[in-house]
Amino acid sequence: MYPDTQLFIDGTWRAARGGRSLPVLNPATEEVIGQVAHATTDDLDEALEAAARGFAVWKKVSAFDRSKLMRKAADIFRSRADATAQMMTLEQGKPLAEAKMEVMAAADIIDWFAEEARRAYGRVIPARAEGVYQLVVKEPVGPVAAFTPWNFPINQVVRKLSAALATGCSIIVKAPEETPASPAELIRAFADAGLPKGVANLVYGVPAEISEYLIPHPVIRKVTFTGSTPIGKMLSALAGQHMKRVTMELGGHAPAIVFDDADLELAAKTLAGAKFRNAGQVCVSPTRFLVQQKSYPEFVERFTAHAKALKVGAGMDADTQMGPLAHERRVPWVEGLVADARQRGAEVHTGGERIGNKGYFYQPTVLTGVGRDARMMNEEPFGPVAMIAPFGDLEEVVEEANRLPFGLASYAFTRSAKTANAIAARVESGMMTINHLGLALPEVPFGGMKDSGYGSEGGSEAIEAYLNTKFVSQAGL
Ligand code: NAD
Repeated sequence: MYPDTQLFIDGTWRAARGGRSLPVLNPATEEVIGQVAHATTDDLDEALEAAARGFAVWKKVSAFDRSKLMRKAADIFRSRADATAQMMTLEQGKPLAEAKMEVMAAADIIDWFAEEARRAYGRVIPARAEGVYQLVVKEPVGPVAAFTPWNFPINQVVRKLSAALATGCSIIVKAPEETPASPAELIRAFADAGLPKGVANLVYGVPAEISEYLIPHPVIRKVTFTGSTPIGKMLSALAGQHMKRVTMELGGHAPAIVFDDADLELAAKTLAGAKFRNAGQVCVSPTRFLVQQKSYPEFVERFTAHAKALKVGAGMDADTQMGPLAHERRVPWVEGLVADARQRGAEVHTGGERIGNKGYFYQPTVLTGVGRDARMMNEEPFGPVAMIAPFGDLEEVVEEANRLPFGLASYAFTRSAKTANAIAARVESGMMTINHLGLALPEVPFGGMKDSGYGSEGGSEAIEAYLNTKFVSQAGL
């Protein structure tokens, strides 16, 4: 049911040179369920050479044929959804239904980028002289190095992989060591669809060693990373030293703003669903719940009721609504944030404790009275923790929403179009969703501003990030 994971280099699945591997744990049981191969620099050299050869081949394949192959890979991937989702739940912990949704959404993302592959249009600019053609041509940027985290083992890879392949780039993916098997299934779907060897390569290992080796390497022309802001800044700096194109999808600390004129039950139910999905380990997870004074007590009550009703358990159990945290490091992190808030006088309405001592389970947690100086009001919680605070008017809530250096997602609930327009215009975030959850579809932009990074992983903007613009001015003889 759960396989060992190998490297995929130059079209071949194989162990690491030197044979090193590391155990993979089930976060619901802490049991070792498999092994993942750990790449050495010899493996990375082979992956780099393969990616260079793969790029030379793939960039010459027509957009039409690239698109066809991608759609075939999407179909293969979809047909294996049940087995792949089980692997994801075993290694990552999320409920099986969420894992299956991630697999199916990934197939849709591949399809969408496959269509965009055929629309990487250039343009013709009217010239000043007769007989001159001014052409803007889009070319693939070249071999890509992609680094992805464990919270959405497939989704974080598929956006990078699909954009790279759609534009004619090759790619080396450094996928998460904690959750290696399900992203390997994604790469396998492309291999089985007939992707030429070397075009997509998959490695695992020590993240810092791999990024320090790949990013400066002359073969790599673009770097894309999803993860925490401190690591993103480090990798951007390294990429900057070597003048590599960069997309950074980093941390967030999303304000969820509920005005007095909102549908309170809709807001509480929708936001609780968003908050506790994937145990809050989501970069766009709502974290700072800001509720207008009059509605505040009722919202706290309704939201807490939703949190209390959640069934926490192993992701493989059919009735589980929230799984464990994904790995061991997350437990002391969340415990530390909650202890700090408590010490500063926060009130815990529900949760606030680890569940049992086997598996990385933590209770859905709701806190009020968390001061602005508390760690969790400043650092990304990345766990099942909601902080609710009251606000007076628009000015006050805009100030709090924009107080932090993050700017990824934001949420608002109001019945007033005027308030909706004002809040959308004034909150500094790359994405805002109002009165519903509308983020992360393949066809819409996905990305942040400020410390949450730059570049987009959705919509036509996502394709641009993998293209160079070439200008050709041609006069007739
Ligand atoms: P971390 O910062 O050590 O790692 C985050 C991710 O970056 C991991 O996938 C890791 O393998 C990778 N990474 C770490 N150092 C790297 C390096 N030098 N080069 C290349 N990749 C590197 O923390 P963590 O404990 O794995 O996760 C905790 C924090 O990471 C969270 O609090 C959250 O802020 C952030 N995170 C964000 C996302 C997201 O979707 N934006 C996803 C996962 C984690």
